[in-house]
Order: sequence, then C-alpha cells, then structure tokens
Amino acid sequence: MLQVKQVVNRVFTSNTYIVFDEDFDDCWLVDIGDYERAEKAVPQGKKIKGLLLTHTHFDHIYGINELCKNHPECVVYTSEFGKEALMDDRKNLSRYHEHPIVFEGKHLVVVGEGDEIPLMGEQKIKVAATPGHEPGCLTFFTEDYIFTGDSYIPGVKVVTKLPGGDRALAAKSVEKILRLAEGKTICPGHGEMINIG
Ligand SMILES: [Zn+2]
Repeated sequence: MLQVKQVVNRVFTSNTYIVFDEDFDDCWLVDIGDYERAEKAVPQGKKIKGLLLTHTHFDHIYGINELCKNHPECVVYTSEFGKEALMDDRKNLSRYHEHPIVFEGKHLVVVGEGDEIPLMGEQKIKVAATPGHEPGCLTFFTEDYIFTGDSYIPGVKVVTKLPGGDRALAAKSVEKILRLAEGKTICPGHGEMINIG
C-alpha cells in the first residue's frame, strides 16, 4: 500500500513528500526543499527514483541539484513551463534568494494533463494541469492521495500575485482539484495533510 511521509522545509515551510510502499525498494519525492531533511526521512534501504514537481517556485525546488548529484538516476517530472523555469533563475524566482538555481540534473521529463507516471509495481500517479498560482502548476494524484502544491492549500487563498499568476485560472484549478480530491488525503505545498474523506 502506498504511504506518504511529510517533510517540512526551512524556506517558507514548504512541504516535501516521500511516497513509498513497504513492498518496493523505490520511493518518490514530491517537491524538494532541504535535501538533507528529505534524505533523512527516506525509509531505510529505499532508493529515490524520481521527483515530481508541483511547480518550480524556489521554495519547492531548492534542493534539486543536490538531490540529482547524490542520485544521478533520479528522474525529474515537470510541466513544459516548469522545464523552462528550471533553466532560468528569474522564472523560478531563485534569483531573488541567496542562491540562484539552474537545473544541473540529467533526466527531465515533461508531463501534462492526463499523463500517468508509473511509480512502482502496478501503481501509477496521474497528472492534472492546475495553472493559476503560476502557469506550469501540476497536481498529482493516486487513488488515495492528491498532491496539490500551491494550487490548493486548504483554508488559504491561492497566491496569484507572483509573476505568471492568474486569479481566474487559479479559481478554476481549485474547482478541479476539489473534484479530484474527493475521498483522498490532500497533501498541499504548505501546511498539514488533510483527509477529506
Ligand atoms: Zn509557489
């Protein structure tokens, strides 16, 4: 059975999630802040197979190069916009923080609405495009969990003031997420995981 562990990062207390299954050796990350915190939280003996990015704002990606250096086989999944932003420290906002980030990893896969990413065994995670907070926001969901990044944080208004933000799109994305989230545990980009039954 798929399990999820939450790691809270230093910068803006963003969340990294570790997705794993006791029966398999691979595990997956959703977003990456403090690399060391994430690494420490990985269940013993499991190998990080991939990183799913909900979006490419600094606080959700800042450990990416350290992660890819230590796990050269790790595959990063992001949107078309996310791919551009990972290569541009202005678009990923890291230029305005103490260390600008340009992606140095080797494996990057662009995904979008309707795609399915095989996790382990028969298990897959599905992709929904949820733009608004920024143009490339993605939401990932399994049968039991939904990773919404900053496209939906329960009880918090979606931030659309940053470059590329769009309030109307964000509202549509929230509606879409709420439909998809039925019966799942919501794992947002900041704050607590919430089971909405
Ligand atoms: Zn953000």
